[in-house]
Amino acid sequence: MLRLSQGQLSLLEYCSRRYQHTILESLSVPSSPELLAAQQWGDRFHLLMQQREMGLPIDPVLQADPELQTCLTQLQTQAPDLFAPTGEIFRQSEHERSLSFSPYRLTGVYDLLRLWRDRAEIVDWKTYLKPKRPDHLTKDWQTRLYLYVLAETTDYPPDAISMTYWFVRTVDAESGELNPQQVRIPYSAAQHEHTRQDLERLTQQLTDLLAHGIPFPQIAGELEKCDRCPFTIRCQRAKSDSDPAAELMAFEEIPEVVI
Ligand code: SF4
Repeated sequence: MLRLSQGQLSLLEYCSRRYQHTILESLSVPSSPELLAAQQWGDRFHLLMQQREMGLPIDPVLQADPELQTCLTQLQTQAPDLFAPTGEIFRQSEHERSLSFSPYRLTGVYDLLRLWRDRAEIVDWKTYLKPKRPDHLTKDWQTRLYLYVLAETTDYPPDAISMTYWFVRTVDAESGELNPQQVRIPYSAAQHEHTRQDLERLTQQLTDLLAHGIPFPQIAGELEKCDRCPFTIRCQRAKSDSDPAAELMAFEEIPEVVI
């Protein structure tokens, strides 16, 4: 059964040709050094929170990275209930959950899942510097898929479920101090039904595309999406004022990724 993650759903919705290049052909773009460093810091933060949740020693990790220490301390100050169980009946970090959505399997890994008798909360750590707007987060496939799968695999009604993003690296513009921000996304039966319909549409689209085989269609309208896509050269959608040689060279350096 083919697994579908939030990243794959996002790609499919963005552009089916981009899904083809990224998922079926395993092409990706090399990260800039800055992006790579940010990703590695994010990985360390997630690992730290997982180790802390499992009761493993974290002092050696914190001593090696003062920014991690500062982030954790600030988060503990601002959201003490995140760290002290408050009547939860279940609590787990890096919690994997999946749901059969024939002929696919929808999958997600929750950074932290907290269940009470009458409500459930999915917590997600975001380590990039600027928080995303709530309306963007509500439409994001990570939010939609995670909430949908939890509602379908538990007895909680949609309005008893929420998802909270913690932007742990946000800095206050005036003081320059670390100031973690949270964005809580509520859920509802109407949103649940809307997501179900969109999942049916996208999975049917994927089934049809796979039946026809590659190449998958390129975007017909919304060409501004191509400007933000790494496959402009391959798709012959590069703007005339860009440097094709440089971009082509970059493209040929794209490593294969394991999906
Ligand atoms: S360049 Fe445009 S058509 Fe090609 S994969 Fe990217 S978004 Fe799709």
